[in-house]
Amino acid sequence: MSQLTAKLMGRRSRRSDRWPRVLSEVTDRLVKRYGTPHLGNFEDPAREVFYILLSARTSETLYVRAFQALFAEYPTLASLSRASPRSVLKCVGGAGLGKKRSEQVVEVAKKLVADFGDEADAQLRAMSVTDVYNYLTSLPGVGPKSALCVMMWSLNVDVLPVDVNVQRIAARIGVIPGGLKHYQAQQLLPKFVPEGRSRDLHTVFMVHGRETCVPGVPKCGDCEIADLCRTGRKFLSQGREQHR
Ligand code: SF4
Repeated sequence: MSQLTAKLMGRRSRRSDRWPRVLSEVTDRLVKRYGTPHLGNFEDPAREVFYILLSARTSETLYVRAFQALFAEYPTLASLSRASPRSVLKCVGGAGLGKKRSEQVVEVAKKLVADFGDEADAQLRAMSVTDVYNYLTSLPGVGPKSALCVMMWSLNVDVLPVDVNVQRIAARIGVIPGGLKHYQAQQLLPKFVPEGRSRDLHTVFMVHGRETCVPGVPKCGDCEIADLCRTGRKFLSQGREQHR
């Protein structure tokens, strides 16, 4: 395993033995509550790249609408690669995505077509973990978190993209310190995730972060992992009314 691959998969040390057990239990309980719902992501990595690209800094309703409008107008990678940024902007502008994002969409389509022709999905699937990470992060507008999302959702790689929900919940549980910069959380948290559980954990944290462990005041009184969570234990010991 290369150094980068080990880093992406999260190397674990003896000192971190406790947290994988806790996160395994956390994941089991949350899967029992929420299941593992489909969050709209795609099995095709090339399509997922655009889905993730459009999702940055906008709401789910808006980026889903933008994505649907874009692929209704340009159903294939080849047609998208020939589009002008101005016409792409007409599809995605309603989601608050601007000129720069429209240019990136076209540049990414151009690069995928130039590199892989009409075999982008097959070629991306054939790459090693390290190569696909390096390739994806070389695409305009695709950063480390976006690349990890594509790898987790579409390529079944056991990596954990740390988004705001995941970081907030992990910090409240006590797995990672609060107030970390995003890149620090992305480096630290995967080390504590049990092998093979990244996708389930990510999925249930997304839902838990929307429904229960919300930004602001979390609903600890309605949380089945309160006894496993530092913040939840404080709530339980204080016997407060639940915040609902
Ligand atoms: S106990 Fe509270 S802070 Fe902890 S995960 Fe549940 S809702 Fe979030």
